[in-house]
Amino acid sequence: MPPIPGIEKVNTFSIRNVVDIDRLNKFIKGGDTKNISVIGGGFIGVEAAENLKEAGYNVTLIEAMPQIMKPFDYGMVQILHKELYDQGVNLIVNDKVKQFAKNKIILGSGKEVDADVVVMAIGVKPETDLAKQAGLDLGKTGAMKVNQNYQTNDADIYAVGDVIEVYSYLYNEYFQLPLAGPAQKQARGVADHINGMAIDNRGYIGSSVIKVFDYNAASTGLNEGMIEALGLNISYDTVKIIPNDKVGLMPFGAVAHFKLVYEVPTGRILGAQAIGKGNIDKRIDVIATVIKFGGTIYDLKDLELCYAPPFGTAKDIVNFAGSVATNLMNSDFKQVHGADIRPLVESGACIVDVREKDEFEESHIKGAINLPLSEIRQRTDELPKDKPLYLHCRSGQRSYNAVLALQKMGFKDVYNVSGGFMGLCFFEYFNDKTLNRTPVVTDYNFD
Ligand SMILES: Cc1cc2nc3c(=O)[nH]c(=O)nc-3n(C[C@H](O)[C@H](O)[C@H](O)COP(=O)(O)OP(=O)(O)OC[C@H]3O[C@@H](n4cnc5c(N)ncnc54)[C@H](O)[C@@H]3O)c2cc1C
Repeated sequence: MPPIPGIEKVNTFSIRNVVDIDRLNKFIKGGDTKNISVIGGGFIGVEAAENLKEAGYNVTLIEAMPQIMKPFDYGMVQILHKELYDQGVNLIVNDKVKQFAKNKIILGSGKEVDADVVVMAIGVKPETDLAKQAGLDLGKTGAMKVNQNYQTNDADIYAVGDVIEVYSYLYNEYFQLPLAGPAQKQARGVADHINGMAIDNRGYIGSSVIKVFDYNAASTGLNEGMIEALGLNISYDTVKIIPNDKVGLMPFGAVAHFKLVYEVPTGRILGAQAIGKGNIDKRIDVIATVIKFGGTIYDLKDLELCYAPPFGTAKDIVNFAGSVATNLMNSDFKQVHGADIRPLVESGACIVDVREKDEFEESHIKGAINLPLSEIRQRTDELPKDKPLYLHCRSGQRSYNAVLALQKMGFKDVYNVSGGFMGLCFFEYFNDKTLNRTPVVTDYNFD
């Protein structure tokens, strides 16, 4: 519980275990609880907000940072922001709890939120009191320091799990990884070591998954935000694709938003994020496996994965990502991302929508030219030759073909908009709605 002024004036709960959940459940069912605020947009905060909303309460989720769920980049997490918003959670980002009044939260912006119950989910800190009392070393992160065999500086005392810091497989630093899988593996390692067996400690990458209402979201390894926050000197590029997770004609197929982060020039995979309504966890598990084997974008392209229409596509999402990354590495084309589009629209850049006319008429980027891929070769004289062209379609695949066609016809400064119109709609939606911003699209299209 953080020492926020007035904290005694609200009914606060934390969630560490089933007993805590039981306590919270009994309290809200026993009283006249209507409004619940969850503070902290990490895994536990988001899961709590989702569960409580589904249980019928008015839920506000408050996050001090501009986004929830740091394992996802800002562009990707907008899908989860949208989902929470659409499902009726009052998601407030970029605003910090300043103080509490009687059943009320007062935020840094001055906004006030009614709260019969406050769930604190502001993250976990290793409980190191006992370690300190025993004279055991802590690492730079504040968690316990252990060697490759999970021994503390007292060789007879081991430590595992949330209380220790682990070595990164991807960069040369220790970090905290409060997840169940690593804790279990470390415990097995300690048992092996006590029994005189060698420990195979390869370092950690961090893989996780969450369900947020109708969406599943998984990630592994590094994302762009982490690379920046950690100040890592890694040269990298990204691929963003939105393919179908099953063959189009199958029922229950859905699009999967997939982002790959890889090192340049080596092609080594650094991380990936996937968000969708289907089984995106299996795609991230494949990437996590490839990372742990030191694999590259070329390995992704080559992977032979099982396929039948109810399960996926013949070229799986991860193969697809490997192919796009290989094209980028070969300098076959240049790309811009969803975040680049608003400034481009506002500066009057030439945006070319290569979807068919009926798709364009339904909704499009304001000021965009419609030149369908099927007609582009015959109508190139309609395109300016003296300025950059930003091509997009629904998801980025048709516009990639159009970019290549134009390049062959002599256009030099042509960019593909990664994630296309759909990616842009997801990227813009939550901020448009909550900041009362003028949309850059005539209407949204999410499928
Ligand atoms: C609500 C919630 C949901 C989670 N969901 C997931 C998930 O979906 N996936 C995932 O990978 N991870 C999840 N985690 C994280 C995962 O639970 C932890 O990473 C994992 O339990 C860590 O194991 P541990 O043994 O280090 O710590 P813990 O499981 O916390 O066990 C430590 C135990 O030590 C006891 N203890 C502490 N001090 C003392 C003392 N002085 N003397 C005696 N006993 C003491 C504690 O009471 C506790 O029982 C979740 C965590 C929470 C809180």
